[in-house]
Amino acid sequence: MARIVMKFGGTSMAGIERIRNVATRVKREWDAGNDVAVVVSAMSGETDRLVNFCREASPLYDPREYDVVVASGEQVTSGLLAIVLQAMGVPARSWLGWQLPIRTSDAHASARIGSIDTDRLAAAFANREVAVIPGFQGLTDDERITTLGRGGSDTSAVAVAAAMKADRCDIYTDVDGVYTTDPRIVPKARKLDKITYEEMLELASVGAKVLQTRSVGLAMKEKVRVQVLTSFEDKPGTLIVGEEEIEGNGMERQLITGIAYDRNEAKVTLVAVPDRPGAVATIFTPLANANINVDMIVQNVAHDSGNTDVTFTVPTAELTRALDVLDKARTDIGYEKVLSDSNVCKVSVVGVGMRSHAGVAATMFAALADRKINILAISTSEIKTSVLIDADFTELAVRVLHTAYGLDAPDTAAE
Ligand code: ADP
Ligand code: ASP
Ligand code: MG
Repeated sequence: MARIVMKFGGTSMAGIERIRNVATRVKREWDAGNDVAVVVSAMSGETDRLVNFCREASPLYDPREYDVVVASGEQVTSGLLAIVLQAMGVPARSWLGWQLPIRTSDAHASARIGSIDTDRLAAAFANREVAVIPGFQGLTDDERITTLGRGGSDTSAVAVAAAMKADRCDIYTDVDGVYTTDPRIVPKARKLDKITYEEMLELASVGAKVLQTRSVGLAMKEKVRVQVLTSFEDKPGTLIVGEEEIEGNGMERQLITGIAYDRNEAKVTLVAVPDRPGAVATIFTPLANANINVDMIVQNVAHDSGNTDVTFTVPTAELTRALDVLDKARTDIGYEKVLSDSNVCKVSVVGVGMRSHAGVAATMFAALADRKINILAISTSEIKTSVLIDADFTELAVRVLHTAYGLDAPDTAAE
């Protein structure tokens, strides 16, 4: 008998027929005598719909009330799955975030899980009951509903698995594993049997939305055994493992593990900022105080006038707030005007091989130049290089890079 967490994403939960399919998989694990906690997402499209309601209600909405609204999608699917399981003869009940509770920080819309009380889960398992837990939601110490950021059900699942010391955390989604890049835009992408926590973390953090970044960080810290697999077929998926489990084929290791893209960043340029010590602090301190994450930054050399342009990216969802913060800080910063563009995309290549090999970034720049794709900004880390490009070229850029790094699946490479 094992203790397992099964997480089902939005596509797997979209409609009663699909929820029945999910319930069949849950029943199979329960029939085998396992303790089963199921973490569910809202039906696909539902969270977007709820987010849009908030934006329509007020562009500068109160994030605490936003959380009340967007957390509701998962409440619906957790109740529905419990109903379907019961109808199949499996004792089940839903446990909302506040009922367990799942305690989080008060960073609304991107809250972090602090602790999960497992007493009620343990009691449910003792009664041979399946516990259905809505992902994405939690509760602050002062009893307000929170959400964990988009894609946060993955993090809920890993956190539940860590808290209940589960043997496995199976993340069921609409693709059959982790690929070298998004298989929906690159049909030649290759499925990976295994990927290290570190590489998955980096891929997720630059946009591979198959797992939420924080879920991978948590799995790595808590040593949770995570597998990504499809809910539509019976076949093995991708295991996220420690580096030592891949070491065996070290010689064969690809230089680059994968490529990701992120269309959810917007470019902001402050034109003619006075070039003096402390100038950039006047820009980024108020943004940090407003909890707005700045990613790529480019500061150009000063013009003759003694002014310089500063370009950076923020999450598109935060663009309105960022522009509001910059407008309020205008006198302090002293810029002439602000330009913004959300039709941009960040494309990144990731691989631990970058640590020991020169020329990885050069291959990227050359491949993009060859297709006349202009680079708007660049950022690098030890195992990643990212470029910002016009969003219209996203698919072309990802495909070209996939081929340039030799990642195309063997049977398709010659096409
Ligand atoms: P869920 O609703 O199950 O959480 P998501 O839509 O959040 O599903 O994540 C699954 C999607 O992630 C896939 O449909 C795929 O388009 C996308 N994706 C992006 N990069 C990758 C990758 N490297 N491997 C697999 N899927 C990826
Ligand atoms: N429903 C939430 C979202 O769409 C959380 C999740 O599905 O992981 O972001
Ligand atoms: Mg997801």
